[in-house]
Amino acid sequence: MAETIFSKIIAKEIPASIVYEDDQCLAFHDVAPQAPTHVLVIPKKEIASLDDLSDNDEPLVGHMWMVICNLARELQLGDGYRVVVNCGRDGGQSVDHLHFHLLGGRSLTWPPG
Ligand code: 5GP
Repeated sequence: MAETIFSKIIAKEIPASIVYEDDQCLAFHDVAPQAPTHVLVIPKKEIASLDDLSDNDEPLVGHMWMVICNLARELQLGDGYRVVVNCGRDGGQSVDHLHFHLLGGRSLTWPPG
C-alpha cells in the first residue's frame, strides 16, 4: 500500500490535533472540518479502504467502533452525530487509508451529495 498523509500523521512526521491514541488506532481533528466537531478515526495498520478489510481485521474494526462511541460521548455531541466511511472514488474517498469520519455539533442533513 502506498504511503499516505495519514501514515505520516501516525508516525508523527506531520502534526495533527490528536484526541485519542492507543496501540491500534488514532483519532484526530480533520484539517477541513465539515461540522463543529469533525474527527477522523484511523487504524494504525495500513488498510487502504473498507474494501481492503480481511476477516482478520474484525477485532480491529470492532475496537474502532467502540473508540468512536466513547469519543462521541467524551466530545459531548449532544442530540446526535454521524459516522461516515467514504470508500473508493465514487464514494468520495480522497485519502487511501481507511478512516471513519465522526461528525457532530450541528443538525446534519440527509441525503449526502
Ligand atoms: P475522505 O475524503 O478520504 O473520506 O476524507 C479524508 C479527510 O482527510 C478529509 O476530510 C480531509 O479534510 C482530511 N485530511 C486530508 N489531509 C489531512 C491532513 O493532513 N490532516 C488532517 N487532520 N486531515 C486531513
